[in-house]
Amino acid sequence: MNLKEYVRVIEDFPEPGIRFKDITTLLRDKAAFRYAIDQLAERAQGLKIDHVVGPEARGFVIGAPLAYALGVGFVPIRKPGKLPSETLNRTYDLEYGKDGLEIHKDAIVPGERVLIVDDLLATGGTIRTTIELVSQLQGTVVGLAFLIELGYLKGRDTLEGYPIQTLITYA
Ligand code: 5GP
Repeated sequence: MNLKEYVRVIEDFPEPGIRFKDITTLLRDKAAFRYAIDQLAERAQGLKIDHVVGPEARGFVIGAPLAYALGVGFVPIRKPGKLPSETLNRTYDLEYGKDGLEIHKDAIVPGERVLIVDDLLATGGTIRTTIELVSQLQGTVVGLAFLIELGYLKGRDTLEGYPIQTLITYA
């Protein structure tokens, strides 16, 4: 199955000049959605994962079914102020301004093996911050998995040392 055919490219969203990769068209197709999750699960075999960790919101949509398929738990990473218990917070730079991400402090036990999942790898800022949160809780990041990679933004180059799986690439 050619998954790229199920991704819709929207010009000038959310800003002029951006070609947004809309995955809702893939998600709504039962065969494409199942195939995407099955492919990611197959590639995660043998990693001996304890948890899948995914940032909101699209990281939940891919990460939760992947965790279910692998028979492991799911840990959410959220924007500040959303998680109810004690959290660890990291801020990161955006093109304009700053953003933050949080994880529950007790979500990862030291030594646990984690697969980090999101829908799309662009500059890598979201994932680097997620890696930092997991690492600060002494989890081991054993892999990174994405539906889509925007190769031209070279996020991969900033994530050296981590095995990366992507199903669809825009070169
Ligand atoms: P990064 O932090 O790697 O620059 O950006 C990746 C994050 O932004 C991901 O969480 C992803 O959901 C979101 N994102 C950025 N561009 C796109 C896009 O074109 N399509 C989708 N679906 N998400 C995007």
